[in-house]
Amino acid sequence: MPHRPDPAELQTVLDDIATRMAGEAERGEVASYIPELARVPLNRFGMAVAPLDGPPIIAGDAEVPFSIQSISKVFALVAALGHVGASLWRRVGREPSGDPFNSIVQLEAERGKPRNPFINPGAIVVSDVILENQPDETTQHPVLDLCQRLADAPDIAVDEDVFASEVATGDRNRALAYFMLAEGNIRGDVTEVTESYFRQCSIEMSCLQLATATRFLATEGEGPDAEIAGVTPERVRRLNALMMTCGCYDASGEVAFRIGLPCKSGVGGGLVAIVPGVGAIAAWSPGLDKKGNSVLAIKAIEELAHRLNWSVF
Ligand code: GLU
Repeated sequence: MPHRPDPAELQTVLDDIATRMAGEAERGEVASYIPELARVPLNRFGMAVAPLDGPPIIAGDAEVPFSIQSISKVFALVAALGHVGASLWRRVGREPSGDPFNSIVQLEAERGKPRNPFINPGAIVVSDVILENQPDETTQHPVLDLCQRLADAPDIAVDEDVFASEVATGDRNRALAYFMLAEGNIRGDVTEVTESYFRQCSIEMSCLQLATATRFLATEGEGPDAEIAGVTPERVRRLNALMMTCGCYDASGEVAFRIGLPCKSGVGGGLVAIVPGVGAIAAWSPGLDKKGNSVLAIKAIEELAHRLNWSVF
């Protein structure tokens, strides 16, 4: 059974982990392929837990906003499934890719149907679906809107410098989108679709906001958080299954082995993990390993999950 610590015990564990992460020498490298991300100091570390039955607990830089990058793919998937339901799976698969998140090779071999919604081409199809179903440009970005409502934080915003940096350097993502257009799996305008995708990746949130915004995934699909997300119990189970199998790029198996929880990472150094029935965890440290996952965020959540017996296995 997962341990359910009281707030004081959880605070002690988080503070202890944050102190030890501050002393870690091996921190990986900050992502540099999006130039704006390379400016984030390597020494940052934050962590937050949003339990289902108590107040959020935070440690370190847990209230510092950072670029959520691929973590946005979870919120985008929730929005797209809300629009088109299970028909989404005709255009996007549900298998781990085993390839880098922006790989083109697999997409060509599989005729433009991305392996899953958490690699870039899958997320670009998801953006296309959202745009098709929510085209009104007078409203703000639907993924931003969902993040704000789930975190109950209307000040969550897009970092316009990161967005501009992604647009300027996004040729590979546009190439993925054009390839899928040629295969009939993109219906909108490639520039609009990719810019919508870049915009959601450029949303800035803190660990506290991310843990709060993903807490609905720890419920059984019921309650106020799940209502905001518009999810059913079955959808929550399936989102968690996708996060467990595909949430950490081509290291998803390794992360499942080490942490044992559904997770989603981003190249901004964020990592969220869901403890079913207990709550959501978010950790952030900008240094990445070779597969694009945050070295210290993985280490910290691994330690937390071990200490509190939170693995689902
Ligand atoms: N905006 C990034 C890209 O498309 C997201 C990468 C990530 O976090 O996986 O390259």
